[in-house]
Amino acid sequence: MRRGLMDDEFFLVYQPQIEMESGRACGVEALLRWRDPERGIIGPSEFIPIAEESGMIQALGARVLRESCRQVMAWHRMNMLLRLSVNLSVQQLQHEGWLGVVEEALKSSGLAARYLDLEITESVIITHHEKAVATLIKLKQLGVSITVDDFGTGYSSLSYLARLPIQGVKIDQRFVHGLEKNRSDEAITQAIIAMSHSLGLRVIAEGVETAAQFEFLKSHGCEEAQGYLISRPLEEPELRSWWKMQDEETRIVGRQADMWRGWRRT
Ligand code: C2E
Ligand code: MG
Ligand code: MG
Repeated sequence: MRRGLMDDEFFLVYQPQIEMESGRACGVEALLRWRDPERGIIGPSEFIPIAEESGMIQALGARVLRESCRQVMAWHRMNMLLRLSVNLSVQQLQHEGWLGVVEEALKSSGLAARYLDLEITESVIITHHEKAVATLIKLKQLGVSITVDDFGTGYSSLSYLARLPIQGVKIDQRFVHGLEKNRSDEAITQAIIAMSHSLGLRVIAEGVETAAQFEFLKSHGCEEAQGYLISRPLEEPELRSWWKMQDEETRIVGRQADMWRGWRRT
């Protein structure tokens, strides 16, 4: 992995996020990939845990942030006003220098802080790690937003959630995949949306794969969606083509989320 980092074998793909009501693209999530010369493309579930254990996550995470801020700012210059979501490990938040890394990435790219969203998992909440929470508060003061990823799978206390400086929750794909099939997944999803809204939080659903899941989420007031129904994670040139396609469609047909109904999986 160290060699991979030195040899530039890591790269980012970007998965679009859309506003359910209008069908318009509103953001992208940066997802890391490793192109190993021998083994081919390796996904983050395989190497992120190793990077966390070895401490390499600091260097890798800083690189992800710098590169993705630079990329999204380049899209902004082409009038593609997308918000950027970046995943963070607890280890990154506990690290002294992390706040400086975020400030530096924003400054050197020119990206406004309000376009950056950091995804943390419930483990940050569960461990009640004071240092991590202090960093979150400072990040919020910078103008960056925080979303709790994989929401519903951990064991976070609701009162603690209400006190954290977060702006959004992302419903875990396990619940999304059970929609229209499993009553308890539907009930949990509805409850997450209702609870989030009463706490003033924005809700995004991940792993949306079917039109039925999309309709369920939309009809229950979920604001945003991400998943294969909309698009797989894409490399830079493909993301630009995807943007053009959706931009034209949403402009021609107006407020029209139905276009995703017939959207082919690519
Ligand atoms: P995550 O943040 O929950 O990301 C969602 C994962 O679901 C991604 O897997 C994505 O490719 C996949 N996905 C998206 N839409 C669908 C769908 O419709 N159906 C299904 N079945 N899957 C879908 P990926 O890219 O393999 O990432 C796995 C995890 O690795 C991420 O989960 C995140 O926790 C972590 N990760 C990725 N990039 C980074 C990074 O730069 N830093 C850190 N710390 N973690 C990262
Ligand atoms: Mg995520
Ligand atoms: Mg997730």
